[in-house]
Amino acid sequence: MGELRIIERIRARTSASNAVPLGIGDDCAILRPPPGHELLVTTDFSLEGRHFRRDWHSPASVGHRTLARGLSDLAAMGAKPLAAFLSLALPKSAVRNSSWLDGFLDGLLALAAAHNVPLAGGDTSQSPSDDILADIVLIGTAPAGRALRRSGARAGDLLYVTGALGGAAAELTSLSVTPRRFRTASPTDDHPHLFPQPRLAVGQTLLRRRLATACIDLSDGLSTDLAHLCAASNVAAELDLAQLPLHPVAATLDERAQITALLHGGEDYELLFTASPSTKIPRSVANVPITRIGRILKPQKKRPQMSIVSDGARFELQPHGWEHLT
Ligand code: ADP
Ligand code: MG
Repeated sequence: MGELRIIERIRARTSASNAVPLGIGDDCAILRPPPGHELLVTTDFSLEGRHFRRDWHSPASVGHRTLARGLSDLAAMGAKPLAAFLSLALPKSAVRNSSWLDGFLDGLLALAAAHNVPLAGGDTSQSPSDDILADIVLIGTAPAGRALRRSGARAGDLLYVTGALGGAAAELTSLSVTPRRFRTASPTDDHPHLFPQPRLAVGQTLLRRRLATACIDLSDGLSTDLAHLCAASNVAAELDLAQLPLHPVAATLDERAQITALLHGGEDYELLFTASPSTKIPRSVANVPITRIGRILKPQKKRPQMSIVSDGARFELQPHGWEHLT
């Protein structure tokens, strides 16, 4: 397969859409955003050896995860996906034999179909090394001035999370020990690491119903992403350890590892958001449970930016770490 054959193979699996009057095949794609909307753009690398390993992740998982990371960024801002662009660098072996590419497209295009995201273009090249590199660009839309941001949290707001935490980290640990057990994993089962589900419907509902004051997606882990939200909003936050929803996949870990997975496990791709205490937040949105996990405080010099309360004791929470407060 040459570059043209690869592009043709990808194009054959995509279809026209109202939002994309011109997709793969010309020098540029043409997009048609709804009137009165702004464009939101996010881009994410998926690099072999850094974000995935071919001996751990099936091609379909790599395709799914590549798109999921971009979609989760759109979800965090309450945006609706308009189109995706995929740049791929494939090593010689994967150019000659299309089976890796076909599996990758199976995973990527199944998730794209589930969320109605047209693949509108990209770039294809032979990788200069033996590594596969994929870059995804997602374009989304939101009503002008309404996109959710990290910076809107205010002291007194309550802190919520979608779904459950720690599952992706726990599954990654099992994957590293027994990769063969996961060879046939499919997105229809609950696989928080291999097939994370971006929370687009929740994000769009938060925006449409004006429920959230700030929002971020959990890609780096709760402690790190909460720190980002606090910094952007110039506030402090307090978590209630007992309220953090543990993913069932993490329930087999010992207690200490569970707490680490909850607080610091990355790649859950859930949404962390704040809402005014006078806003009634539903217990679930689009079949995704929502849990109140803490509150936003005024920043004070003598108080850490983030703390956890557990059994009446208070701990300082640092990104990727925690310490007892005296
Ligand atoms: P150009 O050299 O003008 O950039 P290309 O030959 O790179 O054109 O691409 C031809 C068409 O195929 C373009 O519409 C481009 O967006 C699309 N395309 C190339 N690679 C990919 C890919 N990996 N995924 C989706 N579309 C692609
Ligand atoms: Mg090109």
